[in-house]
Amino acid sequence: MGRAAKAIVYREGGPIAMEPIDVAPPKRDEITLKLAACGVCHSDLSATNGTVRMPPPLVLGHEGFGSVVEVGEGVAGFKVGDAVLTSFARMCGKCAACVSGHPARCEHAAEAFSTLPDGTVRTHDAKGEPLNVFCGLGAMAEYATIHVDNAIKVDAHGIPPASAAIVSCAVMTGVGSVTNTAKVEPGSRVAVFGLGGVGLNAVQGAVLAGAATIVAVDTNADKLAAAKRFGATDVVNAKEEDMVKAVRRLGRVDYGFECVGSGELVSQAYKCLAPGGTLVIVGVAPGKDQATFTPISMAMEERCIRGSTYGSARPQKDIPALLALYRGGRLKLDEMVTRTYSIDQGPQAFDDLKAGRNLRGVIVF
Ligand SMILES: [Zn+2]
Ligand SMILES: [Zn+2]
Repeated sequence: MGRAAKAIVYREGGPIAMEPIDVAPPKRDEITLKLAACGVCHSDLSATNGTVRMPPPLVLGHEGFGSVVEVGEGVAGFKVGDAVLTSFARMCGKCAACVSGHPARCEHAAEAFSTLPDGTVRTHDAKGEPLNVFCGLGAMAEYATIHVDNAIKVDAHGIPPASAAIVSCAVMTGVGSVTNTAKVEPGSRVAVFGLGGVGLNAVQGAVLAGAATIVAVDTNADKLAAAKRFGATDVVNAKEEDMVKAVRRLGRVDYGFECVGSGELVSQAYKCLAPGGTLVIVGVAPGKDQATFTPISMAMEERCIRGSTYGSARPQKDIPALLALYRGGRLKLDEMVTRTYSIDQGPQAFDDLKAGRNLRGVIVF
């Protein structure tokens, strides 16, 4: 027997529900976290609607912040009481991708997709049946036993738990897509397509990078208003006007960030690029989606399309840096957390996510 905990669990056919679970102690190279907060991300929802294939029954949650309560054999870098942010990408630290500074492309990432890297789980339901864990984490639970390769030790002093939690996915992914993947130069013209948790942070990233123009595009008036607060210089409501025409009227952009996950939107966003412009695909589109572009426009105008996963993060370096930017008043986190929920209110948090009611909803424990 391990620790009794409440968790948000998805079973085949749904609904997303709160369930009591048992979390076994850590094995070799694992730690058990007591979660303080976990953000509610679109990717969690994607695992329940077929966009991302992660076999249920599944404990959701990957945007977690907590503290170490137990360490397994062989763990050197963590001790009881350490503050930890979870990394939904496993970083083995040893493969060619990791050693060349691209841990977001770790060759072993898939080993911690719905289980821990050894293919087993530490989580079981009330009947003793094993429960898979989202990205090797299952952080939407009072306790989670995870591999150290998915953990980032941080100094979270003075940061509210809900604000710290969102750094591990939404903030890292959005800001990183601008600063790490695209390396946007000061004075650039930027457009961000889709203003969920990731898109709003791409806007913040563009501010940090010194972009001169930041055009925010969405269909939700509240999110457009929020983008203004986060530093967008112009907004386009794609429900009210032709998005491509509206963006082009403001001036074609050097960098576009597609933060929805839609083949159609990728095709549209590409049309907004200036010569030499780069479109970064950040959103995770359903596998059946296709995007189109004319090769001649790419050749003659030297345009580029590239992907970004986890903001091309080097989480052990970048995440502490983001927390430091917050402390210095240069990164907005508290303003992003528009509602917190108890673990019992978890299902409500997902309803609100689907309805687009929050900039970010966070479960606090
Ligand atoms: Zn996420
Ligand atoms: Zn690796």
